Amino acid sequence: SLAGKVALVTGSTSGIGLAMIRALAGAGADVALHGFGDHATIASLQDQLRSEHQVNVFYSDADLRQPSQIKRLVDSVADKLGGVHIVCNNAGIQHVSPVESFPEDKWDDIIAVCLSSTFHTTKAAVPYMLKHGWGRIINTGSMHALVASPYKSAYNAAKHGVAGFTKTVALELARKNITCNAICPGYVLTDLVRNQLKDTAMARGIPEEQVINEVMLADQPTRQFVKPEDLAAMVLHLCGPHSSSITGACISVDGGWTAR
Ligand code: NAD
Repeated sequence: SLAGKVALVTGSTSGIGLAMIRALAGAGADVALHGFGDHATIASLQDQLRSEHQVNVFYSDADLRQPSQIKRLVDSVADKLGGVHIVCNNAGIQHVSPVESFPEDKWDDIIAVCLSSTFHTTKAAVPYMLKHGWGRIINTGSMHALVASPYKSAYNAAKHGVAGFTKTVALELARKNITCNAICPGYVLTDLVRNQLKDTAMARGIPEEQVINEVMLADQPTRQFVKPEDLAAMVLHLCGPHSSSITGACISVDGGWTAR
Protein backbone atom coordinates (compact mmCIF):
# COMPACT_ATOMS: atom_id res chain seq x y z
CA SER A 1 0.00 0.00 0.00
CA LEU A 2 1.13 3.55 -0.71
CA ALA A 3 -0.84 5.03 2.20
CA GLY A 4 1.15 7.88 3.75
CA LYS A 5 2.97 8.56 0.49
CA VAL A 6 2.43 11.62 -1.70
CA ALA A 7 2.56 11.30 -5.49
CA LEU A 8 2.75 14.08 -8.06
CA VAL A 9 1.95 13.15 -11.66
CA THR A 10 2.50 15.91 -14.20
CA GLY A 11 0.06 15.91 -17.10
CA SER A 12 -2.43 13.79 -15.18
CA THR A 13 -5.61 15.48 -16.38
CA SER A 14 -5.59 13.25 -19.45
CA GLY A 15 -4.31 10.08 -21.09
CA ILE A 16 -1.45 8.13 -19.57
CA GLY A 17 -0.99 10.45 -16.57
CA LEU A 18 -4.65 10.11 -15.64
CA ALA A 19 -4.33 6.32 -15.57
CA MET A 20 -1.18 6.67 -13.44
CA ILE A 21 -2.81 8.97 -10.90
CA ARG A 22 -5.88 6.73 -10.66
CA ALA A 23 -3.63 3.75 -9.93
CA LEU A 24 -1.58 5.63 -7.33
CA ALA A 25 -4.72 6.88 -5.56
CA GLY A 26 -6.11 3.36 -5.80
CA ALA A 27 -3.03 2.15 -3.93
CA GLY A 28 -3.73 4.70 -1.18
CA ALA A 29 -1.32 7.53 -2.04
CA ASP A 30 -2.35 11.15 -1.62
CA VAL A 31 -2.13 12.61 -5.08
CA ALA A 32 -1.33 15.84 -6.86
CA LEU A 33 -3.31 16.10 -10.08
CA HIS A 34 -1.71 18.42 -12.61
CA GLY A 35 -2.32 19.68 -16.11
CA PHE A 36 -4.63 21.69 -18.30
CA GLY A 37 -8.27 21.09 -19.11
CA ASP A 38 -11.85 22.03 -18.60
CA HIS A 39 -12.51 23.26 -15.04
CA ALA A 40 -15.74 21.34 -14.43
CA THR A 41 -14.21 18.07 -15.67
CA ILE A 42 -11.15 18.52 -13.46
CA ALA A 43 -13.30 19.38 -10.42
CA SER A 44 -15.34 16.20 -10.85
CA LEU A 45 -12.16 14.20 -11.38
CA GLN A 46 -10.85 15.49 -8.04
CA ASP A 47 -14.13 14.56 -6.31
CA GLN A 48 -14.04 11.13 -7.89
CA LEU A 49 -10.46 10.43 -6.72
CA ARG A 50 -11.32 11.58 -3.19
CA SER A 51 -14.55 9.65 -2.83
CA GLU A 52 -13.45 6.43 -4.55
CA HIS A 53 -10.13 6.11 -2.74
CA GLN A 54 -10.43 8.22 0.43
CA VAL A 55 -7.20 10.07 -0.36
CA ASN A 56 -6.25 13.74 -0.30
CA VAL A 57 -6.11 15.40 -3.70
CA PHE A 58 -4.34 18.59 -4.69
CA TYR A 59 -4.70 20.17 -8.12
CA SER A 60 -2.47 22.57 -10.06
CA ASP A 61 -2.46 23.92 -13.60
CA ALA A 62 1.14 25.13 -13.42
CA ASP A 63 2.54 25.73 -16.91
CA LEU A 64 5.57 23.47 -17.25
CA ARG A 65 7.16 25.86 -19.72
CA GLN A 66 7.78 28.17 -16.73
CA PRO A 67 10.51 26.95 -14.32
CA SER A 68 9.31 29.28 -11.56
CA GLN A 69 5.83 27.74 -11.74
CA ILE A 70 7.33 24.24 -11.47
CA LYS A 71 9.23 25.08 -8.30
CA ARG A 72 6.04 26.56 -6.83
CA LEU A 73 4.08 23.44 -7.90
CA VAL A 74 6.43 21.04 -6.09
CA ASP A 75 6.63 23.18 -2.94
CA SER A 76 2.82 23.56 -2.85
CA VAL A 77 2.36 19.79 -3.12
CA ALA A 78 4.76 19.28 -0.19
CA ASP A 79 3.03 22.01 1.79
CA LYS A 80 -0.55 20.88 1.15
CA LEU A 81 -0.06 17.09 1.18
CA GLY A 82 2.84 16.77 3.63
CA GLY A 83 5.73 15.71 1.39
CA VAL A 84 6.74 14.53 -2.07
CA HIS A 85 7.63 10.83 -2.28
CA ILE A 86 6.77 9.93 -5.87
CA VAL A 87 7.12 12.13 -8.95
CA CYS A 88 5.94 10.97 -12.34
CA ASN A 89 7.29 13.36 -14.96
CA ASN A 90 4.71 12.53 -17.54
CA ALA A 91 3.41 15.66 -19.30
CA GLY A 92 4.32 15.83 -22.95
CA ILE A 93 3.44 17.46 -26.25
CA GLN A 94 4.20 16.60 -29.85
CA HIS A 95 4.66 18.36 -33.16
CA VAL A 96 5.30 16.64 -36.48
CA SER A 97 7.19 18.49 -39.20
CA PRO A 98 10.30 18.16 -41.41
CA VAL A 99 13.34 19.65 -39.69
CA GLU A 100 13.85 22.40 -42.28
CA SER A 101 10.39 23.81 -41.60
CA PHE A 102 10.10 22.88 -37.91
CA PRO A 103 8.76 25.97 -36.11
CA GLU A 104 11.21 27.40 -33.53
CA ASP A 105 8.46 27.98 -30.96
CA LYS A 106 7.31 24.35 -31.21
CA TRP A 107 10.90 23.17 -30.73
CA ASP A 108 11.25 25.34 -27.61
CA ASP A 109 7.91 24.23 -26.15
CA ILE A 110 8.58 20.52 -26.71
CA ILE A 111 12.05 20.72 -25.14
CA ALA A 112 10.59 22.71 -22.23
CA VAL A 113 7.62 20.41 -21.51
CA CYS A 114 9.13 17.01 -22.32
CA LEU A 115 12.71 17.53 -21.10
CA SER A 116 13.44 20.66 -19.05
CA SER A 117 10.36 20.28 -16.83
CA THR A 118 11.66 16.83 -15.85
CA PHE A 119 14.85 18.48 -14.61
CA HIS A 120 13.00 21.26 -12.77
CA THR A 121 10.53 18.97 -10.94
CA THR A 122 13.32 16.56 -10.04
CA LYS A 123 15.55 19.33 -8.74
CA ALA A 124 12.71 20.68 -6.60
CA ALA A 125 11.48 17.27 -5.37
CA VAL A 126 14.74 15.50 -4.49
CA PRO A 127 15.34 17.51 -1.26
CA TYR A 128 11.94 16.28 0.02
CA MET A 129 12.76 12.68 -0.96
CA LEU A 130 16.12 12.90 0.82
CA LYS A 131 14.30 14.13 3.91
CA HIS A 132 11.84 11.20 3.69
CA GLY A 133 14.71 8.75 3.10
CA TRP A 134 12.72 7.28 0.18
CA GLY A 135 11.76 8.43 -3.27
CA ARG A 136 10.63 7.30 -6.69
CA ILE A 137 11.14 9.35 -9.85
CA ILE A 138 9.39 7.88 -12.86
CA ASN A 139 9.77 9.64 -16.19
CA THR A 140 7.52 8.94 -19.14
CA GLY A 141 9.94 8.34 -21.98
CA SER A 142 8.81 6.83 -25.25
CA MET A 143 10.03 4.36 -27.84
CA HIS A 144 11.35 7.65 -29.22
CA ALA A 145 13.67 7.87 -26.19
CA LEU A 146 15.48 4.87 -27.71
CA VAL A 147 14.95 4.99 -31.48
CA ALA A 148 13.79 7.69 -33.88
CA SER A 149 11.08 8.25 -36.45
CA PRO A 150 11.23 11.01 -39.05
CA TYR A 151 9.56 14.44 -38.61
CA LYS A 152 9.71 14.34 -34.81
CA SER A 153 13.10 16.00 -34.28
CA ALA A 154 12.17 18.00 -31.17
CA TYR A 155 10.26 15.15 -29.53
CA ASN A 156 12.95 12.55 -30.24
CA ALA A 157 15.68 14.90 -28.99
CA ALA A 158 13.72 15.65 -25.82
CA LYS A 159 12.89 12.01 -25.11
CA HIS A 160 16.46 10.82 -25.76
CA GLY A 161 17.41 13.57 -23.31
CA VAL A 162 14.98 12.15 -20.76
CA ALA A 163 16.74 8.78 -21.03
CA GLY A 164 20.13 10.36 -20.33
CA PHE A 165 18.77 12.45 -17.47
CA THR A 166 17.11 9.39 -15.94
CA LYS A 167 20.38 7.44 -15.86
CA THR A 168 22.30 10.37 -14.37
CA VAL A 169 19.84 10.98 -11.55
CA ALA A 170 19.72 7.24 -10.81
CA LEU A 171 23.51 7.18 -10.35
CA GLU A 172 23.52 10.25 -8.13
CA LEU A 173 20.84 8.90 -5.79
CA ALA A 174 21.65 5.19 -5.88
CA ARG A 175 22.72 5.09 -2.21
CA LYS A 176 19.78 7.18 -1.01
CA ASN A 177 16.83 4.84 -1.43
CA ILE A 178 15.64 6.98 -4.33
CA THR A 179 15.25 5.34 -7.73
CA CYS A 180 14.84 7.03 -11.09
CA ASN A 181 13.52 5.19 -14.13
CA ALA A 182 11.86 5.87 -17.45
CA ILE A 183 8.85 3.99 -18.77
CA CYS A 184 8.99 3.95 -22.56
CA PRO A 185 5.59 3.35 -24.15
CA GLY A 186 4.83 2.54 -27.76
CA TYR A 187 1.72 4.08 -29.31
CA VAL A 188 -1.11 4.65 -26.82
CA LEU A 189 -4.46 5.95 -28.08
CA THR A 190 -4.66 9.20 -26.08
CA ASP A 191 -5.55 12.77 -27.13
CA LEU A 192 -1.92 13.29 -28.11
CA VAL A 193 -2.22 10.52 -30.70
CA ARG A 194 -5.83 11.27 -31.69
CA ASN A 195 -4.67 14.71 -32.85
CA GLN A 196 -1.88 13.20 -34.95
CA LEU A 197 -4.40 10.72 -36.33
CA LYS A 198 -6.65 13.47 -37.66
CA ASP A 199 -3.73 15.41 -39.17
CA THR A 200 -2.17 12.35 -40.78
CA ALA A 201 -5.50 11.18 -42.22
CA MET A 202 -6.03 14.61 -43.72
CA ALA A 203 -2.45 14.90 -45.00
CA ARG A 204 -2.54 11.49 -46.69
CA GLY A 205 -6.20 11.63 -47.72
CA ILE A 206 -6.98 8.26 -46.15
CA PRO A 207 -9.48 7.23 -43.43
CA GLU A 208 -8.31 7.29 -39.79
CA GLU A 209 -8.73 3.51 -39.57
CA GLN A 210 -6.14 3.12 -42.30
CA VAL A 211 -3.75 5.53 -40.55
CA ILE A 212 -4.03 3.40 -37.40
CA ASN A 213 -3.31 0.11 -39.13
CA GLU A 214 -0.95 1.08 -41.93
CA VAL A 215 0.94 4.00 -40.39
CA MET A 216 0.83 4.00 -36.60
CA LEU A 217 0.68 0.33 -35.74
CA ALA A 218 2.71 -0.81 -38.75
CA ASP A 219 5.89 -0.69 -36.64
CA GLN A 220 4.27 -1.85 -33.40
CA PRO A 221 4.65 -5.63 -33.74
CA THR A 222 1.66 -6.47 -31.53
CA ARG A 223 -0.50 -4.28 -33.83
CA GLN A 224 -2.29 -3.18 -30.67
CA PHE A 225 -2.17 0.15 -28.88
CA VAL A 226 -0.50 0.02 -25.46
CA LYS A 227 -3.11 0.57 -22.75
CA PRO A 228 -2.68 3.47 -20.28
CA GLU A 229 -3.51 0.99 -17.49
CA ASP A 230 -0.50 -1.16 -18.43
CA LEU A 231 1.77 1.85 -17.93
CA ALA A 232 0.04 2.68 -14.64
CA ALA A 233 0.67 -0.88 -13.45
CA MET A 234 4.39 -0.41 -14.18
CA VAL A 235 4.36 2.75 -12.04
CA LEU A 236 2.88 0.75 -9.16
CA HIS A 237 5.56 -1.89 -9.58
CA LEU A 238 8.31 0.75 -9.52
CA CYS A 239 6.85 2.08 -6.25
CA GLY A 240 6.25 -1.36 -4.78
CA PRO A 241 8.14 -3.67 -2.42
CA HIS A 242 10.26 -5.35 -5.14
CA SER A 243 11.52 -2.19 -6.83
CA SER A 244 14.64 -1.10 -4.97
CA SER A 245 17.11 -2.56 -7.49
CA ILE A 246 15.40 -1.14 -10.54
CA THR A 247 17.07 2.20 -11.19
CA GLY A 248 18.46 3.99 -14.21
CA ALA A 249 16.38 1.75 -16.46
CA CYS A 250 14.44 2.63 -19.58
CA ILE A 251 11.63 0.12 -19.40
CA SER A 252 9.98 -0.49 -22.75
CA VAL A 253 6.25 -1.13 -22.74
CA ASP A 254 5.95 -0.79 -26.49
CA GLY A 255 4.43 -3.89 -28.03
CA GLY A 256 7.85 -4.87 -29.36
CA TRP A 257 8.54 -1.57 -31.18
CA THR A 258 12.22 -1.40 -30.15
CA ALA A 259 12.89 -5.12 -30.58
CA ARG A 260 13.79 -4.76 -34.25
P1 NAD B 1 -2.15 13.72 -23.40
O1 NAD B 1 -2.17 14.80 -24.42
O2 NAD B 1 -3.37 12.88 -23.22
O3 NAD B 1 -1.73 14.33 -21.98
C1 NAD B 1 -0.74 15.32 -21.85
C2 NAD B 1 -0.85 15.97 -20.49
O4 NAD B 1 0.18 16.96 -20.36
C3 NAD B 1 -2.17 16.70 -20.24
O5 NAD B 1 -2.56 16.54 -18.90
C4 NAD B 1 -1.80 18.16 -20.52
O6 NAD B 1 -2.65 19.09 -19.85
C5 NAD B 1 -0.39 18.21 -19.97
N1 NAD B 1 0.40 19.32 -20.51
C6 NAD B 1 0.73 19.54 -21.82
N2 NAD B 1 1.43 20.70 -21.91
C7 NAD B 1 1.55 21.20 -20.66
C8 NAD B 1 2.18 22.36 -20.10
N3 NAD B 1 2.83 23.27 -20.86
N4 NAD B 1 2.09 22.56 -18.78
C9 NAD B 1 1.44 21.68 -17.99
N5 NAD B 1 0.83 20.56 -18.46
C10 NAD B 1 0.89 20.33 -19.77
O7 NAD B 1 -0.89 12.82 -23.81
P2 NAD B 1 -0.42 11.34 -23.38
O8 NAD B 1 -0.41 10.54 -24.61
O9 NAD B 1 -1.13 10.84 -22.19
O10 NAD B 1 1.11 11.65 -23.04
C11 NAD B 1 1.68 11.49 -21.76
C12 NAD B 1 3.16 11.23 -21.91
O11 NAD B 1 3.35 9.99 -22.60
C13 NAD B 1 3.91 12.28 -22.72
O12 NAD B 1 5.17 12.51 -22.14
C14 NAD B 1 4.08 11.61 -24.08
O13 NAD B 1 5.18 12.11 -24.77
C15 NAD B 1 4.28 10.18 -23.65
N6 NAD B 1 4.06 9.17 -24.68
C16 NAD B 1 2.86 9.05 -25.29
C17 NAD B 1 2.68 8.08 -26.26
C18 NAD B 1 1.37 7.90 -26.96
O14 NAD B 1 1.32 7.15 -27.93
N7 NAD B 1 0.29 8.51 -26.52
C19 NAD B 1 3.75 7.24 -26.61
C20 NAD B 1 4.96 7.37 -25.97
C21 NAD B 1 5.10 8.35 -25.01
